[in-house]
Amino acid sequence: MKSCTQCGKCCTKYSDGGLAASQSEIELWDIFRPDIYQYVRNGDIWIDPATGNPLKRCPWLRAAPANQTGKTIFTCDIYDDRPDDCKHYPVTIEQMINDDCEMLEEKDLKTPKQAQKTLDKLMFDSRPPFE
Ligand code: SF4
Ligand code: SF4
Repeated sequence: MKSCTQCGKCCTKYSDGGLAASQSEIELWDIFRPDIYQYVRNGDIWIDPATGNPLKRCPWLRAAPANQTGKTIFTCDIYDDRPDDCKHYPVTIEQMINDDCEMLEEKDLKTPKQAQKTLDKLMFDSRPPFE
């Protein structure tokens, strides 16, 4: 399994209504990060503050200048304060296959159970202890 290539596919796919934030995350943003909180409405993220409608793309997803391979990479403007939903991704090999995640290598597809163990180790620090 490779490191994340910052291809942005996961952010692009899930930020279109596919992400949620917990009540405690929202409360913290309300107090400490009004810039993030402005995109919350009735417990939903990411909502256009001007219209109240869901945004088509996460407002924090930023396209960085192309790297040496000429490929555009993406960064998160609120990386340290991003929702747990984002921190926990990717969760399963199946999800990664569906999302065309670039961390997957050929050998991961051939041995998905082993790949899941590798992923679980890789993500250990990003997931809550009960998972
Ligand atoms: S908050 Fe950050 S990690 Fe989450 S979808 Fe937006 S850009 Fe991606
Ligand atoms: S789809 Fe995979 S490789 Fe691409 S940004 Fe998301 S985690 Fe990284």
